[in-house]
Amino acid sequence: MSDDDPIGAAVRLLARLPGVGEKSARRMAYSLLASGPSFAKALGEAVATLPERVRTCSICGTYTGRETCAICSDTQRTEEILCVVARPWDVDALERAGTFRGRYHVLHTLLDPLSGVGPEQFPLDPLMRRVSEGRTREVIVATPPTVEGEATALFLAESLRPLGISLTRIASGVPHGGDLEYVDPITLGRALEGRRGL
Ligand SMILES: [Zn+2]
Repeated sequence: MSDDDPIGAAVRLLARLPGVGEKSARRMAYSLLASGPSFAKALGEAVATLPERVRTCSICGTYTGRETCAICSDTQRTEEILCVVARPWDVDALERAGTFRGRYHVLHTLLDPLSGVGPEQFPLDPLMRRVSEGRTREVIVATPPTVEGEATALFLAESLRPLGISLTRIASGVPHGGDLEYVDPITLGRALEGRRGL
């Protein structure tokens, strides 16, 4: 960090966060200074240790601080319905909708041959294993309604069909090209309720 302009250095780093412009970054830096050293230290430590404290759940792949996440550890949730999502924050978005009581499977990627993720590179095996060895009766594909999300949904439908389980796709109401995290919980809850066969 630069010695002669510590505020400028902090502003440049803060402004790299999504949704934070230079102006907001500057306000954050001054607010940190005004809040006193203990808050700045706590924030710094929370941020610095984040990569080492967060791991992926050994069952579903979402982010957690433990070996298995709270959702996978919850015996009240049914193992018969598995909701497949692209990213860990999609799990948060669907949980905020509050209507789903099944389990999740996080892909961490979408089928996107132009970016080097073709059927060969796609992490299909963990999902296939989980569905064929577990008690899953229905898989809900909740990948986003983008070109890659739809291609992934079709690919998953083709791959999972031989397993003889029910395959559904999250309903419309989620705008095309949109990300699940920006959809309000009520709409997302309805999209989940109104899912249709794949
Ligand atoms: Zn989990």
